[in-house]
Amino acid sequence: MLIDTLDVLRCPYCGGRLALVESLFHHRTADELHDGILGCHCCIFPLVDGIPVLHVLPASTIARDQLQAGRPDLARRAMFGLEDDEQAEAFDAVASSNTATYRDTVEALGPNFEGGYFLYRFSDPTYIVAQAVARSVGAAVLGGKRRAIDICGGSGHVTRTLRDLSSAPPILADLYFAKVWLARRFTAPGCEPVCCDGNAPMPFARGAFGFAMCTDAFMYIWTKRQFVGEMERLVAADTPGAEPGAVLIGHTHNERTWSPSHGQPLSPEGYADLFETIEPRIFGEGHLFSDVVAGGPLDLTRRDDKETLDRSPALTIIASRHPGVFAAHALTQRTDAEGELRINPLYAVEPDGDRVRLKLAFPNEEYAEEYGACREYLPETLTLDRTAVESLATGRVSGDLIDLLRRKVIVDLPKRYY
Ligand SMILES: [Zn+2]
Repeated sequence: MLIDTLDVLRCPYCGGRLALVESLFHHRTADELHDGILGCHCCIFPLVDGIPVLHVLPASTIARDQLQAGRPDLARRAMFGLEDDEQAEAFDAVASSNTATYRDTVEALGPNFEGGYFLYRFSDPTYIVAQAVARSVGAAVLGGKRRAIDICGGSGHVTRTLRDLSSAPPILADLYFAKVWLARRFTAPGCEPVCCDGNAPMPFARGAFGFAMCTDAFMYIWTKRQFVGEMERLVAADTPGAEPGAVLIGHTHNERTWSPSHGQPLSPEGYADLFETIEPRIFGEGHLFSDVVAGGPLDLTRRDDKETLDRSPALTIIASRHPGVFAAHALTQRTDAEGELRINPLYAVEPDGDRVRLKLAFPNEEYAEEYGACREYLPETLTLDRTAVESLATGRVSGDLIDLLRRKVIVDLPKRYY
């Protein structure tokens, strides 16, 4: 963690600033903190492998005790939930390897971690909407001058797309240490991960951000009113003339419809009532999805009527007084890779002389049911020149391949993803 990041951290319980407790075990450089104990007015928290753990759940207490005993290795094992020695040693070996992939690391964490769909995350229908909305709103309010935070951002798939918009490194906050650790290492290198509880007050300073967002997680939050109040606080623009920020809650389920992994959703008006200081606008995800599939613009001037909202399984909520937010946003497609360009792993690839045949092959029925809308942009079959496929290694696309990148037949994945 960068020492500068302490400026935006606050204790979730007393609101006090956090500082490294110099008298206890720690490991730091001139501008980074690696391991140690952070203290406020009321308590102390562990900082494990560069990640502040700002909650007091059992693993955090064990990690804090291990750090005080001078054992950062055992503190990290506790935060990863690795109890059995054999599994812990196997994980440590993968974690210290320079060639291990995201997939290798996830597998070393055991079968209960994360499910198997991360491989397809960058092209799933929920993700392409979340990415387009986050980038459009983020670009409008951040302007390269302010910072973004992705709350309950898991292993950082959306955080990845905020990095070039956020002035200081974007903060990724999540309850699961393993996920934010994976994000910093693979999915969103350069982000600042923070481990905290979404059902507690958020451990950040008032007005520290221009953009606070949360996608695909809000329906699992029990303390929804507090969560929204906290998001409003994080983007508060208190000084006269300060530019307004924005709050985004993307892909939250709708109480009036059924969806897989339903959570505890509210109705559209129930969500609207959570906001006290900034009036929100609520969008059904369907129209936003159509905008993205069409290549833009993403039309945030639209007002979905009550019937549309009531019938939408997933909703996107945006609250902002910034004049640039509720506009039609062009969706630009970059032609160079942030990571590595690869054929979407949803395709079975069959070489055929100078050509390569691709056939859409979902991993299972469940995936097809939950994410089948990707058929609207991923063709069932496709034939490419072998030289075109080989050219992906250059990290640039031109000609027809630009459209295939936009349609996610080609995906820009983090380096060493699988
Ligand atoms: Zn405190």
